[in-house]
Amino acid sequence: MAPFIYRFTRDLRLEDHAGLALAGSFGDVLPVLVIDRALESRIGRSPRRAAFYCAAVAALDAALRERGSQLIVRRGAPGAMLKNIARATGAGGVAWCANYDRTSGISDEHLQSELEEAGLRATIVHDAPAVGPEETAAARPSGGDGYRAFAPYFAVWQELGIASHDAPLLVRFAASDLHSEPLPQPHEFGAPDRPADASPAAAQRAFDRFLEGPACHYALALNAPAEDGTSHLSAHLSFGTLSARTVVRNTRRRLDDPFLLSEERFSLRLFLRSMATRDFFLQLGFFYANADAEPLQERMRRFSFAREHEALEAWRSGRTGFPFVDAGIRQLHETGWMHPRARTIAASFLCFDLGVDWRVGRDEWAQWLIEDDPAIASGNWQWIAGVGADMAQYPRIYNPHKAGRRFDPGGAYVRRWVEELANAASWSWSWTAPAPQAQLSLPFASAQASYPQPVVDHDAAARAFLKRYRAYASSGR
Ligand SMILES: Cc1cc2nc3c(=O)[nH]c(=O)nc-3n(C[C@H](O)[C@H](O)[C@H](O)COP(=O)(O)OP(=O)(O)OC[C@H]3O[C@@H](n4cnc5c(N)ncnc54)[C@H](O)[C@@H]3O)c2cc1C
Repeated sequence: MAPFIYRFTRDLRLEDHAGLALAGSFGDVLPVLVIDRALESRIGRSPRRAAFYCAAVAALDAALRERGSQLIVRRGAPGAMLKNIARATGAGGVAWCANYDRTSGISDEHLQSELEEAGLRATIVHDAPAVGPEETAAARPSGGDGYRAFAPYFAVWQELGIASHDAPLLVRFAASDLHSEPLPQPHEFGAPDRPADASPAAAQRAFDRFLEGPACHYALALNAPAEDGTSHLSAHLSFGTLSARTVVRNTRRRLDDPFLLSEERFSLRLFLRSMATRDFFLQLGFFYANADAEPLQERMRRFSFAREHEALEAWRSGRTGFPFVDAGIRQLHETGWMHPRARTIAASFLCFDLGVDWRVGRDEWAQWLIEDDPAIASGNWQWIAGVGADMAQYPRIYNPHKAGRRFDPGGAYVRRWVEELANAASWSWSWTAPAPQAQLSLPFASAQASYPQPVVDHDAAARAFLKRYRAYASSGR
């Protein structure tokens, strides 16, 4: 029987795998990885991402070898590489999992046509979301395609069952004597060769640990960056070393425990809501082809954000003089991850205090995050900038000091990440608001002279932004 090629992309595991299950239904599966320019450039943008990706690919290859197979690696244009492999092995077709950002979506379409023109079956499968975009669209009471608003999406998402493809042993891998190029190595992407445990086993362990304990306190963890209690699963979900279906299914099962306290139940539901948000942004990317290039809200497409600001470099480097913003950005620089609350406040600061375009922020963070999720990044950045799926009448402008007082009252998060403030003996976020910038009584006083002064007057900047926004909105453009 002719083999069927499965092309791995952001789905680097064997368990609960929609793409492998489908490829396996067409024949013995020939596992292939094609590294093209687009992948190289995305992965190479962040050294930590490159290290994570290379470790995940190595773990995938090891798992395939345990099943008597191996990853066939090629470098070059996917169409040409896949056609060559199909010719050499007599494979009848190729399957791979869908991408949700515009650039990759267009490449997928071109690849599909190219393979079909060559007489191959070319199938694209939804594997990244727990619930695929077409499933939520089909269940939509009012008909139509994708959802632009989260609330109706979530109402439908909660009612849908989660498919399971958890039978990797049923997939048979084709034996092949095809030569493989070497596995990708971090140094190819300019990253140091340091080990990162990005295996599916590590992902599953992390998730099991989380679900056993911290998930039941998720509501608190979301508002307490210093405690670091959210799941930290984003990189695993991004590269598919853990299936979103497994996460949602097991979390729903956890909710069946009759001995859960109501606040634990609330936390688990909130965690599921986060997973639904992920699916929501993926479906936005799927149905609204331009979602990563222009605002989802038509009325906001002509609103002009700046591309430059004299304090932009200070924001990029975490030296704005706003401790909570700077702590988030420095956490990102040091770890490749930022706590979700800090992301919100730091992004709001860029869009409203500096009036800088959300795409500038998104592209900046893409150089630091381990996750590689253009559709999710665009969805969140648009949401924060008030031009996307959040349909609030006015943009939600956060006061970075109030956020610090609320989410980091003792300053532990700030002191952990902002070196200049690490040794502040005591901490207080108190100030008289609204107050001129000079009167702000910041917690670090003069002892931390190396820490910068605030780069803007938040109140004045926020009001100026709102004034411009109102003028734009009332002009009916
Ligand atoms: C400006 C901005 C940019 C962001 N960029 C990204 C990004 O590039 N990639 C990314 O995965 N997330 C992004 N997020 C969403 C969220 O902040 C991260 O998913 C979260 O911080 C990851 O930490 P965690 O794994 O501990 O998440 P948890 O809070 O434990 O949540 C579990 C999982 O749910 C998903 N999730 C949670 N919140 C969101 C959300 N708002 N949108 C989409 N998925 C969500 C993630 O996959 C996450 O791993 C962004 C948020 C903001 C405000």
